[in-house]
Amino acid sequence: MRRAVFFIPFFQENTTMDLGEKLEILADSAKYDVACTSSGVDRPGQHGSLGSCAAAGICHAFTPDGRCVSLLKVLYSNACSYDCKYCVNRRSNDRPRATFTPRELADLTIGFYRRNYIEGLFLSSAVLGTPDRTMELMIEALRILRQEYHFNGYIHAKTIPGSDPLLVERIGLLADRLSVNIELPSEMSLNQLAPDKKKNAILRPMGQIAVKSAESRRELAVYKRAPAFAPAGQSTQMIIGATPENDLHILNLTEGLYKKYALKRVFFSAYLPVVADDHLPALTTRPPLLREHRLYQADWLLRYYHFSAHELLNEEEPNFDPYLDPKCTWAVRHPEFFPVEVNTASRAELLRVPGIGPKSATRIVQARRLQKLGMSELKRIGVVLKRAQYFITCSGHTPNHGTRAEIAGALLDPKAFGVGVQQLSLDDFTTKPLPAAAPAVHELTDHGMAADQAARLVREEALTCLTKRM
Ligand code: SF4
Repeated sequence: MRRAVFFIPFFQENTTMDLGEKLEILADSAKYDVACTSSGVDRPGQHGSLGSCAAAGICHAFTPDGRCVSLLKVLYSNACSYDCKYCVNRRSNDRPRATFTPRELADLTIGFYRRNYIEGLFLSSAVLGTPDRTMELMIEALRILRQEYHFNGYIHAKTIPGSDPLLVERIGLLADRLSVNIELPSEMSLNQLAPDKKKNAILRPMGQIAVKSAESRRELAVYKRAPAFAPAGQSTQMIIGATPENDLHILNLTEGLYKKYALKRVFFSAYLPVVADDHLPALTTRPPLLREHRLYQADWLLRYYHFSAHELLNEEEPNFDPYLDPKCTWAVRHPEFFPVEVNTASRAELLRVPGIGPKSATRIVQARRLQKLGMSELKRIGVVLKRAQYFITCSGHTPNHGTRAEIAGALLDPKAFGVGVQQLSLDDFTTKPLPAAAPAVHELTDHGMAADQAARLVREEALTCLTKRM
């Protein structure tokens, strides 16, 4: 049975709520935060400590050895004194409020850990009064976990923008990963939608964490017992679609954050309308999930494929193609780069070929030391030949010239035309566009067209357009 919850003003400490009720509210409030994933830390269990830390940390994630690991993802408090327009926890929103005590949170985490529900903690918080007060309470909860319970599992903690640098330093010595949410892609949008937050208050702790992490790594290289500061680095989160910035702006910012602050990850969160406001998309707007997906694909290209933001987008084409992934878009725009000879090309050149990823590029470079590679070897190596065959040569032979329409058909991203079956009653099944399908598919179904027909029609149009462009 669902527990009753109480509406409590943000400034009032609630002493009557039990821990289960607090957990229900604070776990629900944390679900909008996406900056929670692979930890990047491997720390075996230690004698006298509780827990170990595997190299992954999403709320439900798989470690490299195939284990599924989970984190308790929760806010310390959702009683926020700020009023960011896009946020369900904002001061002016009438919703149930709750705040843990440091010991409650530590006990809860340990209880869940002992019952094998979780392997770590992802802790964030609304601003409870002031950033410093919030951070002090979060630090105390983590101190109890680390020093009293000797909890050695993964902890990802949010840093509250505007808090004292000394507090950032203290939390970095307790957590594996820190993150400071940049929230919106420009200062103008931040001023408009989150007037209590200031750009410098977000970037300053990012800079501090980058410097402290680098210092800590250098110290650890010399003294094995030196204290580790945020050994899994830092990440951030950006809301996509709440404000007018284009993909080029977002990708340039992402690239700059990686370079300047050595971030491990930038997370993108498709805006989910929760409030009616003149400065925000209408409540009926769908979260731009396909756009979010394209940005993640581009982020992957920045981090693992040696692409730069200006190669993927420019002022003339500042947004990603909904029907093509960013790498295929680049390949279509650069026919002069192809074909690539798989037996002689550098790894960097191989990485530009649609259908060849970092693993298969490395395997190609290794395998061709022993023999010339043809289609069958490439297939064994794991190259996606459906795409790659049109962009490569094997010892001078082109595996498949393909017509322009065939190549276009191989490059179109099936995700943009995804349709699923929804069961409305025992014997009533209907098809619906998947949430990340292209906006055009959703629009046609909104106007009454059957989902599979809409997807087919949009795909045919996209195919015709792409064939003409090639
Ligand atoms: S600071 Fe802003 S984004 Fe964070 S919880 Fe408060 S209202 Fe929400």
